[in-house]
Amino acid sequence: MTGTALPVVDTGCRDVPVLKERGQREVFCGLTGIVWLHRKMQDAFFLVVGSRTCAHLIQSAAGVMIFAEPRFATAILGDRDLAGMADCNEELDRVVRQLLSRRPDITTLFLVGSCPSEVIKLDLAKASQRLAVEYVGKVRILSYSGSGIETTFTQGEDACLKAMVPALPETQEQNLLVCGTIADVVEDQFTRLFRELGITNVQYFPPRRATQLPPIGPNTKLLLAQPFLNETVRALQARGATLLSAPYPLGVEGTTAWLRTAADAFGVAPERFASAIAAPAQRARTAIARYKPALEGKRMFWFPDSQLEIPLARFLARELGVENIEVGTPYLDKLLVDAELDLLPRTALSEGQDVEKQLDRCKAANPDLTVCGLGLANPLEAEGMRTKWSIELVFSPIHGFDQAGDLAELFARPLDRVGRLKV
Ligand code: SF4
Repeated sequence: MTGTALPVVDTGCRDVPVLKERGQREVFCGLTGIVWLHRKMQDAFFLVVGSRTCAHLIQSAAGVMIFAEPRFATAILGDRDLAGMADCNEELDRVVRQLLSRRPDITTLFLVGSCPSEVIKLDLAKASQRLAVEYVGKVRILSYSGSGIETTFTQGEDACLKAMVPALPETQEQNLLVCGTIADVVEDQFTRLFRELGITNVQYFPPRRATQLPPIGPNTKLLLAQPFLNETVRALQARGATLLSAPYPLGVEGTTAWLRTAADAFGVAPERFASAIAAPAQRARTAIARYKPALEGKRMFWFPDSQLEIPLARFLARELGVENIEVGTPYLDKLLVDAELDLLPRTALSEGQDVEKQLDRCKAANPDLTVCGLGLANPLEAEGMRTKWSIELVFSPIHGFDQAGDLAELFARPLDRVGRLKV
């Protein structure tokens, strides 16, 4: 792993003892990732093999697509299928054949596992291999699990990308691979900035088209755009890629450090770097400054949900003067948040969840804003607390200089609502 020296705060969180909790959790399952993955990879289809609950979850999370041909569906395994696994496999093959004959535009099909017991018994990896032979050269068929037993919320993307890693073509060329779903508009902005820096061999994973997989090899430098790709990163490292350790491109400071890490790895001169980022960084500073009066000094409590908590808490503390009371994350993988821990001003850190105990700590602290999942937000609001839905932070374009003001606004808005209600 390589990295760049960054302005470290002497009170950073590197040595803060982490409270590890293993109790009841209040987090969406990994199926949720389909909502943003199907938008990103325009030629892929996600077939959830699950129950009616799974179907309801992704339909309500994604909204019903009336005008567009949907690119996800649920093959519901009912009681009839429990009669025997042979029936189950036949039924799955029948659904896949029917889908692929109706939809010749699908180039990659993901079979997505879930947690009902009848699905757990079904070997989806074997099913995808069986079907892949039948559709070789026509449709790539892969599988991963989005089960709530094995995955939280953003781990669905990790599992999906990891399933694609063996299919990435090999290269010996030097390239930069940006890993983690980001909005197309943000991807275009980063591509322009990399070009101005003279870094032109840049690819994104996941790609916009599942057929255009990025190449990987011993000269690939890996730069993470999302902090929840624990297993994908290790699979990419096993294919020879070198991970660049950097903070995440959230806010001016994070985006600058992220780009500088890439620039240093590709030998870009400091003057060229400074001139390429000067204008967008200044625009971002101006946009963020607008929200500082609303956020400065506000006390914030983070429930574990998306794994974006540590980078977001760092942005809010360092650039907007927020005081973090507790920053919770479902998993704390130092390989992925190493650079963030030095920058996050000292605060209580927790990993995993025992929701009742954490609710007690949150209520005792009485924060100005609580960042949490949908399931906790409504009850907390009913008790008079202000909340921010963490799911919105995954669905919205928040990365890069041009989104930094919008990101600050996402946190200022709930507080502003309180202010307006008081008048
Ligand atoms: S995978 Fe499990 S947790 Fe997720 S919607 Fe289906 S039944 Fe619920």
